[in-house]
Amino acid sequence: MANEEADGGGSPLQVPRGTRDFGPAEMAERRRVEGRMRETLRRYGYREVQTPTFENLELFTAKSGPAILDELYGFEDKSGRRLALRPELTAAVMRFYYASLAMEPKPLKLYYFGNCFRYDRPQKGRYREFWQMGCELIGPETPEALGEMVALGAALLQDAGVARLAVRIGHLHLLYSALDAIGWPSSGDRRELLRRIDKWDERNVVAGLDEAGVDDGARDWFLSLHDVATLDDLAACLDAAPRAGERAEEAVARMRTAASRIREVLDCAAALGLDLAMVRIDPLIARGLDYYTGVVLEVDAPALGAEKQLLGGGQYDLSGVFGGEPVATCGFALGFDRALVAVAAEGAGTEVAEGVDAYVAPIGDAARRPALVLAAKLRRAGLSVEVDLMQRTAGKNLKAAASRGARVAVILGGREVEGGFATVKDLASGEQVEVPLAAFADWLSARPPASRAP
Ligand code: AMP
Repeated sequence: MANEEADGGGSPLQVPRGTRDFGPAEMAERRRVEGRMRETLRRYGYREVQTPTFENLELFTAKSGPAILDELYGFEDKSGRRLALRPELTAAVMRFYYASLAMEPKPLKLYYFGNCFRYDRPQKGRYREFWQMGCELIGPETPEALGEMVALGAALLQDAGVARLAVRIGHLHLLYSALDAIGWPSSGDRRELLRRIDKWDERNVVAGLDEAGVDDGARDWFLSLHDVATLDDLAACLDAAPRAGERAEEAVARMRTAASRIREVLDCAAALGLDLAMVRIDPLIARGLDYYTGVVLEVDAPALGAEKQLLGGGQYDLSGVFGGEPVATCGFALGFDRALVAVAAEGAGTEVAEGVDAYVAPIGDAARRPALVLAAKLRRAGLSVEVDLMQRTAGKNLKAAASRGARVAVILGGREVEGGFATVKDLASGEQVEVPLAAFADWLSARPPASRAP
């Protein structure tokens, strides 16, 4: 651990390990993509909520168990309260729901966007501070609701510019009942096996099944679930399931029910616009967590490397954590930073034009105050304006105007101030015209932005 932490070890010039600074161009792109996602959420009728950046530590241990402590940024405040920076937002949103929103009409469709903190091992696409955008759909348990969740998850990413997606849908009853069907002992360490299934290293999974005494035929059948891609594949697999006794029969029946549930959900998602060509049935999605209850979903960007999972979620029940009435809930969390990498990998990123509309360049001391007054007037008219703050010479001001990507430089000398006009230079075409100051804001607003400098 000492080595791992050796870089970024507290120098005031370095950001803490796993965190990042974002410059203006990067922020502009982040805000652009965020804006696209917010627009998609608006069209689906989701409303934003915000919760604190830190919470009582217990919120997360109650939800995810003590193992979460390893990845939490936990701390004590000056009064000895045990707190943690949030590693995700679902627990907080559901705390908010049980504390204040439970009486709201259903369906309650909420979304959030915020930074999360995990003591992960940093690498490309994996950070200690990262951003999640996520939704919680509270109330309905219908195929329509679940179909909306799936369609929205894909739409958020596609509208943002990630054209190529791999959507994997599963159901916890598929996985858990498959374990029942192969005679997995109910006393077995399911958590450890689920972890191996989640990571899918076949040798490890086989070893886990062998250790539990699962026989060869049942083991091979279980492994064949990993090759399932369609509902037809799944049906064929279920036909070949081991029929060793009542427990196995019941388990396979539960798997059939789960499969038909997935079919209904996908029908709804397709009706809502989901392209089913991107969808794969994955009976072995583990999601690793105890509170998932039914349909589960993961979305990957095939264009990315190891850290390609962009989104994960499903149906869950956190009522036990809060001692509240059970309420049907589904939702997902989308990794915003990875989504941005995927947008860029698809070539759908944009150099957001950061230039200002006008750069006001006074010539000579007498024009400095009038330049400020003109800048203020243009800003009141809604234009973005920079005005010389460095007392530059005229030539340097023109250079500064160009490097700030201004559409026009507004040159204001003594002659202009006296005459009540400005000399305006279009920085793309070089064309220069004189415009009366009184009409200037209207004149600039009306100019087609085609002449905007790149
Ligand atoms: P989870 O809450 O673990 O289901 O994560 C939801 C999504 O958040 C994942 O699919 C990733 O896209 C993203 N994510 C999770 N952990 C990190 C991390 N350490 N850095 C960047 N993105 C992450």
